[in-house]
Amino acid sequence: MTERARRMSARELMRDERGRVDIKSLDRDGVRELVVGECGGTEGQALRVYKALWQHGVTSFAVMPDVARSLRERLEERAYIPMLEPDLILRSKDGTTKFLWRLEDGQRVESVLIPDGERLTLCISSQVGCAMACTFCLTGDLGLIRHMKASEIANQPLQVGRQLPEGTRITNIVMMGMGEPLHNLRAVIPALTVCLDDHALNFSHRKITVSTVGLVPKMAELAAALPVNLAVSLNATTEAHRRSIMPITRKHSLDELLDACRSFPLPSGKRITFEYVMFGGENDTLDDAERLLQLLRDIPAKVNLIPYNENPDREIRRPSDATVKAFQHHLVSNGLSCSIRTTRGTDISAACGQLGKARQQAVERGWLEEARRVAGLV
Ligand code: SF4
Repeated sequence: MTERARRMSARELMRDERGRVDIKSLDRDGVRELVVGECGGTEGQALRVYKALWQHGVTSFAVMPDVARSLRERLEERAYIPMLEPDLILRSKDGTTKFLWRLEDGQRVESVLIPDGERLTLCISSQVGCAMACTFCLTGDLGLIRHMKASEIANQPLQVGRQLPEGTRITNIVMMGMGEPLHNLRAVIPALTVCLDDHALNFSHRKITVSTVGLVPKMAELAAALPVNLAVSLNATTEAHRRSIMPITRKHSLDELLDACRSFPLPSGKRITFEYVMFGGENDTLDDAERLLQLLRDIPAKVNLIPYNENPDREIRRPSDATVKAFQHHLVSNGLSCSIRTTRGTDISAACGQLGKARQQAVERGWLEEARRVAGLV
């Protein structure tokens, strides 16, 4: 599909009940087509509209600076500006903040803001629920409810960023929230294009990471469209174990996945991150570490070990710190770069694999009214 065809077919999916286009699901070229091609504006006006949306967070055409009234009225007839409605904000004692958003159709998704020294990373969602059904993940329990629109994806960094104190900025975006981003590339590509655009959210491509369970055919499509970092959720060192915990891998074998990683076009100095969730007694032995080393031996790789975050909905155990350290030591002493991800936000269920049940948990724990009050929502 050509770029233009992709944009046009996506636009068919982005109209409201009045037939107006969701302008924030369009990239810069799409906004130019709308403003110049459909509304008779100029190239300069198109750029001002685009910047007003993404750099000033304008929520109404009526207040767009330096845009003629007649053009604003034509835009109002043909397009609308969608925003996420904040539903709940939970703050962890370790500084992690979870944002629960209400979408236009009442569905809810989550983003997690994680401060870490100089870094301020926002983990964003790409789907409501997820079709991949990884056995260890609470989001997988929901199944796929629907794909998110590009505007719903890119509004997460925009709207969280606008809540930060003066002088503070999100430094990194990771697509590791709810959903499998490569299963929704039609929306993820325009959303990340806006994140990267220096006339919009202006993030460096080095600061954006897209994570996948290994949708092999989509990896090349992502690489062709965007120069972002890739993270692969591996979690097992044998085909049988991987299939048992990540059903989607029955379609795309470990060998296929590693071949796709070998041919993934990486800029010099870049490596693919392999995420490895460690389950106590399941995949945490030194034999596993050795197999992992062999699997990745000819791939520019770094490994991120994620000790499993226990929760009442699963019987999976977290390995001991000593086991995790020994695993890391085996990889590092054999030349493979490896870090251990510090668990963050467990008290607000914001850690890996815990997204998707914020509202239910908040009600159960009596947090909801207090959280909404703190967030200024009631
Ligand atoms: S781990 Fe990621 S891909 Fe797997 S079910 Fe959860 S959200 Fe989906």
